[in-house]
Amino acid sequence: MFNIEAYIRDIHDFPKKGIVYKDITPLLQDATATRETVAAFLSFLEGEKIDKVVGIESRGFFFATLLAQELNAGFVPIRKPGKLPYDTYRESYSLEYGEDTLEVHSDAIQKGEKILVHDDVLATGGTAAAACKLVEKMGGEIVQCSFLMDLSFLKGKEKLDSYKVVSLVSY
Ligand code: IMP
Repeated sequence: MFNIEAYIRDIHDFPKKGIVYKDITPLLQDATATRETVAAFLSFLEGEKIDKVVGIESRGFFFATLLAQELNAGFVPIRKPGKLPYDTYRESYSLEYGEDTLEVHSDAIQKGEKILVHDDVLATGGTAAAACKLVEKMGGEIVQCSFLMDLSFLKGKEKLDSYKVVSLVSY
């Protein structure tokens, strides 16, 4: 596989002091690297039928839409509260301090549909676990959760242990 890490840069003290933020914009700027990334994700889905690719706001949208096209599947955005215009289902989850909520359109997933859940980064796993709960509440069947990278020291995979989890690079 090509060296995806070469296209992910560390930004120190963003968005707050002490945080090392993984920035994927160098990857998105490069058409060949983006194509190779899509191919890498597809290699983990050979033989799988996917009806919908769920992308988590907002950096999850980039590869989720590209993957949806390649898989001949629909794209479904999961967003922060108040951003989606139609009727929504919501799921709240705990953060280190406080709580956050995700929303999805109530007609976005039909019972029995095969779902790929995608985001850019798996950190503590709270966001992806809440997205998976929303999908399952709607009757979707999660085939795989995929991420460009996981921050393994935060043990996000443990929150997703009932799903197949793919990440292209681990830090
Ligand atoms: P979690 O809920 O702790 O797993 O956090 C995952 C969410 O935070 C994802 O939607 C990511 O986009 C975002 N996130 C966490 N760390 C980073 C980072 O270093 N770079 C970009 N996004 C991040």
